[in-house]
Amino acid sequence: MTVHAAIEAAPNLARLRSFVTDLADLIDQGDDEAAILAGGHILLSRLVATDDWLPEIYAQPNPERYQQYLLHCDSRERFSVVSFVWGPGQSTPIHDHTVWGLVGILRGAELVESYVRKDGVLFCTGENVLHAGEVEAVSPKIGDIHRVTNGTEGVSVSIHVYGANIGAVRRAVYAIDGTPKPFISGYANSHLPNLWDRSRP
Ligand code: FE
Repeated sequence: MTVHAAIEAAPNLARLRSFVTDLADLIDQGDDEAAILAGGHILLSRLVATDDWLPEIYAQPNPERYQQYLLHCDSRERFSVVSFVWGPGQSTPIHDHTVWGLVGILRGAELVESYVRKDGVLFCTGENVLHAGEVEAVSPKIGDIHRVTNGTEGVSVSIHVYGANIGAVRRAVYAIDGTPKPFISGYANSHLPNLWDRSRP
């Protein structure tokens, strides 16, 4: 690889750095969930509008299952930013989050099936295909249970933001009959991207 090509290939981490600092500023303004989701929607839409910043190691699919890479966690665990990477045919179980979340599609597309649970029974309330550049919200207040499936024949990548350190949150996956099973997702990676080396562009 030439020096020029190496420079061209360097991910533009400043975009992710700006996103996490803008999100921290937004959350500093108050804990009103609707305001955070509205402001966060704008910020995440801006982040996923340009696909030049995600390091390739956080966009790698795994043939066994979808991947969940932590990109950043707020020092007070008020929010976390995660890249989800889907190989062909991969999907999540039906699951909840228990905190607010925003999903933005960076590459490809995702099929989202939404559910409500009443008296222990799950009801599917709709299906939605999200394409690159689109953003959707979840939360216990507006609808928190869904299943997400790769909507393309290739690899899809989405960027998620949650109102907690989501990999450590005790939540649930659900069997199709509505039976919950406790779930803590963790993360696929043990190292995070270095957003803070300001000697780089
Ligand atoms: Fe989800």
